[in-house]
Amino acid sequence: MSPRLWKKTAGLWRFLFLLLPFAVNAAEKSPLKVMLLTGQSSKYHSWTMSSALVQRMLEQTGLFAVEVVTSPPQGADMSGFHPAWNQFAAVVLDYEGDEWPEATKQALASYVKNGGGLVLIHATDNAFPKWPEFLEMSGLGGWGGRDETWGPKVRWRNGRSALDSSPGRATHPAKHDFQIVVRAPDHPIMRGLPPKWMQAHDEIYSQLRGPAKNLEVLATAWADPAKNPGATGEHEPMLMTIRYGRGRVFHTTLGHVGPKDVAPIPAVNSVGFIVTVQRGTEWAATGEVTQPVPRDFPTENRISVR
Ligand code: ZN
Repeated sequence: MSPRLWKKTAGLWRFLFLLLPFAVNAAEKSPLKVMLLTGQSSKYHSWTMSSALVQRMLEQTGLFAVEVVTSPPQGADMSGFHPAWNQFAAVVLDYEGDEWPEATKQALASYVKNGGGLVLIHATDNAFPKWPEFLEMSGLGGWGGRDETWGPKVRWRNGRSALDSSPGRATHPAKHDFQIVVRAPDHPIMRGLPPKWMQAHDEIYSQLRGPAKNLEVLATAWADPAKNPGATGEHEPMLMTIRYGRGRVFHTTLGHVGPKDVAPIPAVNSVGFIVTVQRGTEWAATGEVTQPVPRDFPTENRISVR
């Protein structure tokens, strides 16, 4: 560049130089690509409603670029269903339905094994009862024929998590408000949340079973038989993480949406559910959580629904 041209354009260069920190900042804050995979649920749930709500709560953080992938409908040909897992920092599954092609299953398992993030929401842990890698990635699951041959139940007893191989299939008491107790306060997902908080009108998934390998219980709920017929009288795991190879899995049993529910649906509009899904997805994608705890977070004895 000639000295003359330099002089003429010096102002422009100075201007661009001043913009540099903003460019770097913008690059740092480029959104994390997250796949929300949905498309089928059992007759007890509504994937159309739940996935729309999950998409919105993820987008509200400003952290994620969410791409919704909808599977073929129940009974349809699945042979062409091959989501591009590797293009995403995390995959959120809101799916309880038909089996996928073997290659699709293996591609998801190897994506997670190689460091991909996975988030499982509520009835997703009912899916794929005969897919060994899914059972390992989810840690625990229920229904779909699962009995003691699937693995132990996980209980919180004497201040720590314990495996329980006694018989019993998955169940849950009728929906009600219940208290969540944080069991891993130093985990990035739970850090800064109150030690106890209320979840509104949801199902306490109970007696889930599975390999429960490399599983950490983040939070439990007391299934109180005095208040709820059919409750197990155990501290049931509600939020958990599973290490699968180099991948991180966040599994929330919370977030029931029934087919006849009308908005606002308390379980999924519960601030505790929203915030843990937002934080769990960031952790699954990056291993860290940068989100502050919002002011309307529920307390030990008061629900908070948006
Ligand atoms: Zn449910």
